[in-house]
This record gives sequence, C-alpha cells and structure tokens, in this order.
Amino acid sequence: MTSRDIGIRYRRDLRLRDSIVRARHAGGGSGTHNRARSVEQRADAPVDVNALLCCPRCRSSLRFEREPIICTNAQCTYSRDGFPRAGGQPVLVDFERSIFDRENYGDDRGSVMQRDDSGRGLAVRCRRLLTGDNPVTPGKSREMIRRLTAQAPAPRVLVIGGGAIGAGADALYADPNVRVVGTDVYASPNTKVVADGHFLPFRDGAFDGVWIQAVLEHVLDPPAVVAEIHRVLKPNGLAFADTPFMQQVHEEAYDFTRFTLSGHRWLFRGFEEIDAGAVGGAGKALVWSIRYAALSLGLSTRMATLVALPFFWVRYIDRFAKTGPKTDGASGVYFFGRKSERVLNAKDMLHYYEMKHR
Ligand SMILES: [Zn+2]
Repeated sequence: MTSRDIGIRYRRDLRLRDSIVRARHAGGGSGTHNRARSVEQRADAPVDVNALLCCPRCRSSLRFEREPIICTNAQCTYSRDGFPRAGGQPVLVDFERSIFDRENYGDDRGSVMQRDDSGRGLAVRCRRLLTGDNPVTPGKSREMIRRLTAQAPAPRVLVIGGGAIGAGADALYADPNVRVVGTDVYASPNTKVVADGHFLPFRDGAFDGVWIQAVLEHVLDPPAVVAEIHRVLKPNGLAFADTPFMQQVHEEAYDFTRFTLSGHRWLFRGFEEIDAGAVGGAGKALVWSIRYAALSLGLSTRMATLVALPFFWVRYIDRFAKTGPKTDGASGVYFFGRKSERVLNAKDMLHYYEMKHR
C-alpha cells in the first residue's frame, strides 16, 4: 500500500474519462459512447451534494466554508481533526472505525488497489471474454429508472462503490432525469464524495434509490452497510445489490464474504422484494474455478487467464439452466427491493427457498 499505488486508480480513471470524451467526439463505438455520455452527464448533474452530507461519526452538520471540512458538533473528534480531501473531493470517512486510514488520503487520490480500470489492457479484455457480461444489470438499471421516475421527477440515486461505473449500470448515469451521487473509498471522476459504506456521510432519507454492485463482498460488516442503505433511503426508496456467491477471492485483502440467494435476501430483510435471482450460473462459476485452479498452481494472473481461456464457452451452459438449481450454483446473486418498515421473519426464509425453486 504505497503512495505510488494510492492514486494510480484515480489517474487511470482520469485517462479513461479523457479517452471516452475523445472517443465520443470522434463518434466512437456504442459501448464507449454510452460511457462517455454517462460520465459527462454525471459531471453536469445538478445535485447539491453538500446539502445531503453529514458527519460520518455523529451525523451532525458539516462546515464547508474553510479547509479542512469540520463537524459542527463540538463534542465530535472531527470538529477538531476535520476531514481531508482526495482529488478535490471530501473524504468523509470515520477513520477510527474504518479499515482505511487518514494516511491513505495523504498525498493523492486514496486508492489502495492497483488495477486496470480502463478496460483496454489485454489482460482485462481476455478476462472479460472469459467471464462474459453481466446478464442482469442492464435491465435492472432501466427498471430502477422507470420505477423511480414514476415516483419522483428527478430522483437522486446513491451509487456505493461507483469509482468505476459498474458493468451494465450505464443507463443510470445516462438518464437526464436521474441525479447520481457516486461514492467510493477512493476519488474518481465518477464520484463526488469519498465514503465508507459502514457509516455513510449522508442525512436520513437523502436518496430515492441506492445502487450497490460488487461491493458487499468487500465490506467487513455487510449488515451494517445494508442498515446504512436503509437509513439514507426515503420511504419506499429502491435498492439494487449485485453480490458474488461462487466467486473466488478478488481484490486481495479487501474480500471478506459471499452470499447465497437466501442469505442475500436475509441481509435485505428490511426491504420488500421486487425481484431477486442469479447473476450468472454454475457455468460462469466453473470458468472462474478453472482460472483459480491455475492460480493455485502458482501461475501469474495473466497466465491463469490464458489457461482458462479455451474454456470460455462453458459459461454458455447457463443459458439452459433451470431457475432453482441455477441459483444454488450461481456465480453471483442480486436483490432488487423497496425499503420497508416490515422486517422479514426468520421462518419466512424456508418458504423463500421453496418459492425460488418452484
Ligand atoms: Zn461529528
């Protein structure tokens, strides 16, 4: 975790944004074009983020007039220490409780991971060919927009883990009626605030929707994060979560938990389900396993991808999978639901499994 690592991801995001804008002006391909529009749309979205923010420690108001940003509660440690900035964005993290340190944000943008977010590297493209696109998120992002804009003219959507735009989530950013507030544990062109999902620096009921994709496996305390999602949503607010089940460890030290479909449902027990199911089946999980079998022999990540590549077709068996058995061996699971005041009963869970296997 060196200062060189810190910020590499941000700089790559900046390069990605620049390349996207260039591609758009040059009339680039459709995928790239969508991302270009999404990033520019996000940048122009009229959201007064400061009005939504509060102290992640005590939830008191913040004072933004001078640097550093401080908490207005004289009893709070952050009324003295204040919060740093990374890439010009406020880092509203309670460092005493977080896995992330103030020092992570000392001299640059605050990324602790080195990776290729640009999607242009050969290794990333091979891995994408290997594991395929997300079959669920494009439809769910459009459905979330449809449902939210039916409830409110300009809904606010919080994206947790939005440093890089999630696979299939482009529609959220592209829709002119949706005001996206991106957060992550590092600053990127797609974020407005650096935050830790365990204690979100947002006021109660600040958002109409929350989007959390491929994040809950990377947090130490998923129930605490989901409780925060529940808190920052308005009554009847919508949440979408996409979380791995049969996927091996990724993101190194920052990977902690997996969920079955039922476990994921229980995690969101304070929500009424609209829809939930598998994200990729056992075929996709098998392709992941082949690559990790190669890694277990000591091969480099690049070599492991090459070894697994001839088996990319195995993921196509998921197209023929039956719904119930598919969820039992799914690569990941998703939950799409509405904030509720009713909490699911423990005994409901047996019925839930049966219902999902009919
Ligand atoms: Zn405070």
